[in-house]
Amino acid sequence: MKISSSILRKIFDFIFPPSCLICHKKVEGDNMLCPDCFKKIHFICSPVCQICGTPLDYEGVFLCPSCLQKKFYFERNLSAVVYDAVSKKLILPFKHQDKIELTSFIASALLRAGEDLFPLVDTLIPVPIHRRKMLKRKYNQAALLAQILSKKTHKKYMPLGLKKDFYGQSQGHLSPKKRFQNVKNSFSVPSASKIKGKSILLIDDVFTTGATVNECAKTLKKAGAKSVYVLTFAKVLPFEESSLPS
Ligand SMILES: [Zn+2]
Ligand SMILES: [Zn+2]
Repeated sequence: MKISSSILRKIFDFIFPPSCLICHKKVEGDNMLCPDCFKKIHFICSPVCQICGTPLDYEGVFLCPSCLQKKFYFERNLSAVVYDAVSKKLILPFKHQDKIELTSFIASALLRAGEDLFPLVDTLIPVPIHRRKMLKRKYNQAALLAQILSKKTHKKYMPLGLKKDFYGQSQGHLSPKKRFQNVKNSFSVPSASKIKGKSILLIDDVFTTGATVNECAKTLKKAGAKSVYVLTFAKVLPFEESSLPS
């Protein structure tokens, strides 16, 4: 007798009832969050800063105060949600505790947030982590996301487009200025001929000060990339940079 996959799924759900990724309350069907937690997530919608993706209060304003002062190497960043106490409960387990089941939720949020960027690029590259960190964490969360997004958008996935050469200290407790210095010259392009003339979308989980993606964009452009856009799951708001995630 052949058991259909929907029956198997019902049996599985009966033994392991699906629960909310944030509060662990039981949820119905394919939902990954309960309605209460879903409502608490601050999804970013327009208007946003045309460079860093910070949500803005008024239409007709194009840049946030912080982007009026600094210059990034990437064209623009878009993020799906604001980094706050609620989204933190999704990001930290995804980053540090092998909670790979969060990947599909984060990837679907990125798919929606990046709608305007996908038509502008031909290649997806994850922000790389150093080999030593890879041994500790066992996976690069940005690469998991880039791989899913590449399948959904039919854009080329280049997992080794960038390499992190310098281990450096964790960005966690550094001031915004020190973060930019700490990542300087940390990345390299293993094969410049594969990058030349490409329009690239860099994928990462959190945009904090933009120091890491900025250094990646600088490295890619030096190797001949035509343009570099950035797509991140959560955006730390500029005035909250003092409570930075690591
Ligand atoms: Zn919940
Ligand atoms: Zn900005």
